[in-house]
Amino acid sequence: MPRNIFLTGFSGTGKSAVGKEVARLLGWRFVDTDEEIVRLAGKSIADIFTDEGEPHFRELEHGALERVCRGERQVVSTGGGIVTNQHNRRLMEDNGATICLEASPEVIYQRLLDEEGDSPCPTIRPLLAGSDAMERIRSLKAQRQSDYAVAHWTVHTDYLSVQEASEEVIRGWQIVTGHVGSARFKDPDMAATVYTSSGTYPILVGWNLIDGLGQRIGDSIAPAVAYVITDEAVYRHARRVQLSMERSEIPTHMFLIPSGEQSKTLEMARRIYEWLAGLRAERRHMILAVGGGVVGDLAGFVAATFLRGIPFVQVPTSLAAMVDASVGGKVAVNLAEGKNLVGAFYQPRLVLADVETLRTLPRREFLSGWAEAIKHGFILDRELLSTFEEHAESILALENEITAQVIRRSVAIKAHVVSVDEKETMGTRILLNYGHTIGHGLEAATGYQGLLHGEAVSIGMMGAAYISQGMGLLSSPGVDRQCRILERFGLPLSCRGVDLDLVKRAMLLDKKTSGKAINWVLLEDIGKAIVRADVPSQLVQEVLHRLAQ
Ligand code: NAD
Repeated sequence: MPRNIFLTGFSGTGKSAVGKEVARLLGWRFVDTDEEIVRLAGKSIADIFTDEGEPHFRELEHGALERVCRGERQVVSTGGGIVTNQHNRRLMEDNGATICLEASPEVIYQRLLDEEGDSPCPTIRPLLAGSDAMERIRSLKAQRQSDYAVAHWTVHTDYLSVQEASEEVIRGWQIVTGHVGSARFKDPDMAATVYTSSGTYPILVGWNLIDGLGQRIGDSIAPAVAYVITDEAVYRHARRVQLSMERSEIPTHMFLIPSGEQSKTLEMARRIYEWLAGLRAERRHMILAVGGGVVGDLAGFVAATFLRGIPFVQVPTSLAAMVDASVGGKVAVNLAEGKNLVGAFYQPRLVLADVETLRTLPRREFLSGWAEAIKHGFILDRELLSTFEEHAESILALENEITAQVIRRSVAIKAHVVSVDEKETMGTRILLNYGHTIGHGLEAATGYQGLLHGEAVSIGMMGAAYISQGMGLLSSPGVDRQCRILERFGLPLSCRGVDLDLVKRAMLLDKKTSGKAINWVLLEDIGKAIVRADVPSQLVQEVLHRLAQ
């Protein structure tokens, strides 16, 4: 069913030029929502902004989109801010495929400068004014990033001509609409697509997905044999995976590890290598990780290194693994000297999170897992936080649709961040470390025994919020809001009794490793994280003492 293609993305990503070309190639109508607004309002966008202000412009924009959605076979170029309104996002989702055009802030800046001559648009002009234009682009783009992230497909345009980007848009559209392959119009379980230098892969989040896993893998990767690596506590889910694979006639072997962090070692990896070698595993076979972050990290490390890399699929079964560990391609094992010291960036071919598996997850692990999901809201997505606040009860009761929805949205944020900054070199992925500076310090100080990772991050987030407040960035209602949400999800806010000297020492060790001052991820506002290296040590001391009271 063709319906429409909606192009979303920041100004300067090429929506109009690419939209026109896509429309030409498909023989569809091209529509520009900004032009529709001008036509309906009978005046220029500049005049609408001057006479009635931005809120009125946003109302007109919503009205224009509603009208456009009555049509079919249209390629619609939308304004950069259209996605910030959830009703607009819903309208586009219901009436076509949303394809986001991405570009780096540097490229956007250059393109906007080139366009400026012909562009009277008041949403662009203020972006370019003054000497800190790049910073303004970066910051506004970061604010909207989580809304861009929920598109059905994303095309990175930095190195593409209009023609190439248009072909990529059509390819993406064909995939999401099922014109190619077996994907349906919009797979309702599709949470996000991750883009990396080694390829693109989907993340699916939904209920009872495991039973269809064999068919999905058979249709896409089609391995001759699959090796399931799992831990003893999740055997029953791994068994369902195995049965699903066998229904699709993919022979499957299973390796069980003892559950817990102590299995994430080189010694365990060696045992798995030997098992694989004994079974004559080949590069056209694949490894399936079924379990929490420990299984995902270990199995991923083995997949990255055995035969210099064999295909790998993640089936995360803990909440922490669903919203965090399975997304982004970091795989590793621990050494006695430290956690995750030996590892690689190795991306899976597919991540499939079956929310049903969370029913057997111990309650404390379940609550701890929400910390990272809530963190995603605090750093980049204020709307996700409102959902957590409004639906806390249902989410904690693991009610079907809302739980899958918040996990999907949270995953989409992480997926987007790692797509933009795969190897932590662009200054974006570091935002995911909100709450982790103190959190890691606490975990190390308690010998990785007393606190679960999410619990330590929750306390660390409180520390980071107090520091943000102390630096004059975050307001006191902002801090209170974070406190209430974390508390509502049963997460700790303080660490009474912990040895602060040990925490400080662990944090200092991190600092030594980087060779510079600690880069603190702080909140400028709810849903808006920034990095600061100028936090006074006196303030850190005070905050640690406050957390330990
Ligand atoms: P985990 O894998 O140890 O799982 C926690 C516990 O829950 C284990 O006992 C496990 O057996 C059990 N479990 C998991 N799913 C279950 C289910 N559905 N039913 C019953 N029991 C279940 O720990 P985790 O919290 O999932 O992940 C933590 C690990 O992930 C750490 O090793 C951490 O370093 C790693 N991690 C990696 C990344 C990354 O980017 N690769 C990010 C964050 C954390």
